[in-house]
Amino acid sequence: MIEFINVTKHYPGRRHVLRELNLQLGKGEMALLTGPSGAGKSTLLKLLTRLEAVSHGTLRVAGVDLATLRRRHIPAYRRRVGVVFQDHKLLMDRTVYANVALTLQVAGMSARQLDHRVRAALDKVGLGDHWREFPETLSGGEQQRVGIARAIVHTPEILLADEPTGNLDPELSSEILDMFRDFYRHGTTVLVATHDQGQVDRMGVRTLHLAHGQLQEKA
Ligand code: ADP
Ligand code: ADP
Repeated sequence: MIEFINVTKHYPGRRHVLRELNLQLGKGEMALLTGPSGAGKSTLLKLLTRLEAVSHGTLRVAGVDLATLRRRHIPAYRRRVGVVFQDHKLLMDRTVYANVALTLQVAGMSARQLDHRVRAALDKVGLGDHWREFPETLSGGEQQRVGIARAIVHTPEILLADEPTGNLDPELSSEILDMFRDFYRHGTTVLVATHDQGQVDRMGVRTLHLAHGQLQEKA
């Protein structure tokens, strides 16, 4: 599903962030991405959402070659991917419902189908009763769950998360990461960047450590 072959990434005028990096993540597999701050975890995820382009090498995702993907085909590609951010990037002046619905409105869909999907996504993250509320009335953990509902409402094949528990206490972090594991168990390919070693140990899933531009498998 995700295949990095000798991928190198550097930003203009800077040293390489990723160097000849290789990674294979199969369909329905899950991995945690660890590594020190500044190692390039966000960069790796940005390559996968095509927010950044690879400098050299091959990156294939769900049969799509991201190195040669035409600009006009990027939106269609992105609809196959769901992304969760540390700061969840919710729109604070919109309801929980509107935040989740936005992904589908952009994708174009009937009102009835949209309503069905939004409800299902909110139910999946346990927020079915909060759809009318505004994000600022929710706890940090609940806000992050809205972020997850928004990322999965279009049933993506691949779910990516960049430090999704960065602002949460251990108990809430466990809840959120268990949710990702649940999506993976239902067939979604999941890649989660985290520097939370306690969670990594607890989760017991495949772990990839990024340092000096390269990935190392951790037992
Ligand atoms: P991590 O997510 O592991 O903390 P990042 O991918 O955010 O690491 O950053 C890796 C390196 O790339 C850092 O040295 C960072 O300063 C640099 N970097 C990240 N984004 C950019 C950018 N848009 N332009 C230039 N340098 C960047
Ligand atoms: P129900 O039929 O579940 O009791 P209502 O009849 O109160 O719900 O629904 C009225 C409006 O509220 C509808 O537009 C519906 O889309 C919305 N709604 C109700 N519950 C939810 C929910 N959990 N998530 C999103 N929208 C909801």
